[in-house]
Amino acid sequence: MTLLDSPVDDAVPTITDMSVFEQHESEVRSYCRNWPTVFEQARGSWLTDVHGDRYLDFFAGAGALNYGHNNPVLKQALLEYLVDDGIVHGLDMATVAKARFIETFRDNVLQPRGLDHKIQFPGPTGTNAVESALKLARKVTGRESVIGFTNAFHGMTLGSLSVTGNSMKRAGAGIPLVHATPMPFDNYLGGVVEDFTWFERVLDDSGSGLNLPAAVIVETVQGEGGVNVARPEWLRGLADLCRRHDMLLIVDDVQMGCGRTGEFFSFEEAGIVPDIITLSKSIGGYGLPLALTLIRPDLDVWTPGEHNGTFRGNNPAFVTATRALEHYWADDTFSRDIHIKGRQIEEVLTALAGRHQGLSTRGRGMVRGLVFDDATHAGKVCTRAFESGLLAETSGPSDEVVKLLPPLTISTEDLDRGLGILVDATEEVLA
Ligand SMILES: *Cc1c(COP(=O)(O)O)cnc(C)c1O
Repeated sequence: MTLLDSPVDDAVPTITDMSVFEQHESEVRSYCRNWPTVFEQARGSWLTDVHGDRYLDFFAGAGALNYGHNNPVLKQALLEYLVDDGIVHGLDMATVAKARFIETFRDNVLQPRGLDHKIQFPGPTGTNAVESALKLARKVTGRESVIGFTNAFHGMTLGSLSVTGNSMKRAGAGIPLVHATPMPFDNYLGGVVEDFTWFERVLDDSGSGLNLPAAVIVETVQGEGGVNVARPEWLRGLADLCRRHDMLLIVDDVQMGCGRTGEFFSFEEAGIVPDIITLSKSIGGYGLPLALTLIRPDLDVWTPGEHNGTFRGNNPAFVTATRALEHYWADDTFSRDIHIKGRQIEEVLTALAGRHQGLSTRGRGMVRGLVFDDATHAGKVCTRAFESGLLAETSGPSDEVVKLLPPLTISTEDLDRGLGILVDATEEVLA
């Protein structure tokens, strides 16, 4: 018997209903309300609950499980590391696991893309990477203000919230969110106003009331904001505007990085080079917490310890992250596969949208949205899908979008199957 197939201890009574969560867990809980069952195991694209019912996962940990649940390749590396008493917690001490990660990230990600960014390990969450990026941009430029975009999502701590759009989440701060200014994301004005006309005008006008910002922070595809895709030419225009006005460009690739849109970084398609890049969610590879802030070398003006965190050297995550980069990102095979599966999703959703009024689709690679003119329909479709064994969540300012984020490693058969469930759920809700 190996470690992997040891049976679950039968003496422990199984939790079969939601009562323990309803009684003791804070009201702040959310996903367990939409998917009211108790999950026990997961493998690849599938989860199993305590009743033995199986669910196909088109949510993938909000993009933290791009390589699927308990990916066997990554699990093997992790188990070997633990069995050997490899360092688990090490703050940011020098460890073998960290060295191997840095070298592999350099060789398989940075160098092939002509990037020479320095690697900062902030606390192991997306919002911590964003906080560090904002702090650094302010320190480098000596300016306070940062530009965010309409419907952006950058995390739940104060700095990240200040550049996040959602009013419910912002209100949770309980204090004014300052030193941030929202600008229209691509297509926000329905294409009626020329790109950047407003942004450029207020930058150029000394009477506009806009202080010169330290930086601009942008998602190339807004995941939480409703799968809003920025066109490559818009991103290039933004990069150009930043250069001309001496503002730093921060791309928040926490959700869209690590292959979600096809390439490792979501901004590669546009051919831009951000000054600062944030990564988290799938960079740890196994669903283990890890975050990176990538910094153009000349901007690395931190003093030692100026931004730190107890868990920033999450060594087990370095091990699975390294294995994922070796296994999936040594060449472009995986990337091509993502594009093929992305087109498979697009074809199904485009055909579905073509059959119904008030339904459209958008996305890139393997992040796709099904957009309902009647916002209430999106939630109903997700509920129907759950009843049929598919996990998918809504996004967008009115929760009007069904957002699809299947694991990038999903088989085409499972992808077809999940899309079939989604199509049926949509047909039923719209019938
Ligand atoms: C999820 C997300 C974050 C926040 O990451 P956490 O790990 O939840 O703090 C920040 N930016 C983007 C784009 C995200 O999708």
